[in-house]
Amino acid sequence: MSLISPWRADFPGIQAFDAEGQTYLDSAATAQKPQAMLDSLLGYYASGAANVHRAQHLPGERATRAFEDSRTQAARWLNAAGSEEILFTRGSTESLNLLAYGLEHLLQPGDEIVISALEHHANLLPWQQLALRGGLKLVVLPLDASGQIDLQQAAVLIGPRTRVLAVAQLSNVLGRWQPVRELIALAQGHGALSVIDGAQGVVHGRHDVQALGCDFYVCSSHKLYGPDGVGLLYGRRAALAQLRHWQFGGEMMLDADYQQARFRPAPLGFEAGTPAISSVIALGATLDYLLHLDAAAVAGHEAALHAKLLAGLAVRDGVRRLGEPQVALASFTVAEVHSADLAHLLSEQGIAVRAGHHCAMPLLKSLGLPGAIRVSLGLYNDGADLERFFSALDKALELLR
Ligand code: PMP
Repeated sequence: MSLISPWRADFPGIQAFDAEGQTYLDSAATAQKPQAMLDSLLGYYASGAANVHRAQHLPGERATRAFEDSRTQAARWLNAAGSEEILFTRGSTESLNLLAYGLEHLLQPGDEIVISALEHHANLLPWQQLALRGGLKLVVLPLDASGQIDLQQAAVLIGPRTRVLAVAQLSNVLGRWQPVRELIALAQGHGALSVIDGAQGVVHGRHDVQALGCDFYVCSSHKLYGPDGVGLLYGRRAALAQLRHWQFGGEMMLDADYQQARFRPAPLGFEAGTPAISSVIALGATLDYLLHLDAAAVAGHEAALHAKLLAGLAVRDGVRRLGEPQVALASFTVAEVHSADLAHLLSEQGIAVRAGHHCAMPLLKSLGLPGAIRVSLGLYNDGADLERFFSALDKALELLR
């Protein structure tokens, strides 16, 4: 099967890589962008920049309308109950830091924050630091043999002291979906707030935050084929109302005196200062592009590529995969080969993969690994990309062994 992506031509970055002899297999780190996103970004500047939510002039009104249209589009993408439940941040990391700060006033010494053993540092360090500051306990849910959060253990560890549950929807290392619906229900049963790190999950298929039942859901535009510098923080209206304000300035206030001020509710109360206007607007254009794709065809193409990737790894001596990934990525190690050396030799042959601890160092340590290689695919990848990868892998392994 040739496995040609019908969408490859929509991505100028991939074509530039082709011309340069680069094969890009690191989309879980950041994805390439469709022409529609580039057009929007350039179009915003070319038609005249203006600040949002401030000016009464026409350019300002136009920019504000486009900016707010993106919020509506993002709400539709996640099926939020309304666009006021969508906050624009710089990315998943900022969204999670905002939450760890914004919920601090609700927590008391001895309260428990529950995360899992596979969290990205973005969903570990903010909670860890909050726990250290406030005398809270950070509870880490273990994984079962398949690389999923163990629900039986979770039912024991999520309890009356749990105030916040914060877990990834999809592991960036293992590529496995996590039982977030069940975990959210467990947290709700104890009156705890739930935070879902959707940085990886949001890229694969469509997700419905209302059906999930979470209080908060975060993701980054740049992994979803959109511009960098923008992230989303979804919050259920009642959950957002509990957040304390975190950055101050600009138009996030309702009223200001020298000695005190009153602040707007979400979303504008949590978007102090001039936002990444062009990027937010271009994220809207990206979501538009994605909404018009045939979702079943994208899923089918990615599944076929993934099967080819797994089959190719399976027949190579000494390659050990980290579990059974469920989306188009695979992390692996090779016996007696350091992953950094292998990534270097692949890079010399024009193959871009990720090597290292993947910002999930405690997970890699628990697996007894200093690092691993991760190959991750986007909807623009072709079977030929994988063929180039495998031939480079064979050459590199020949040299290293
Ligand atoms: N969580 C997960 C699971 C991720 O994969 C990443 C990005 N690697 C993040 C959070 C952080 O996203 P960002 O760097 O865009 O803030």
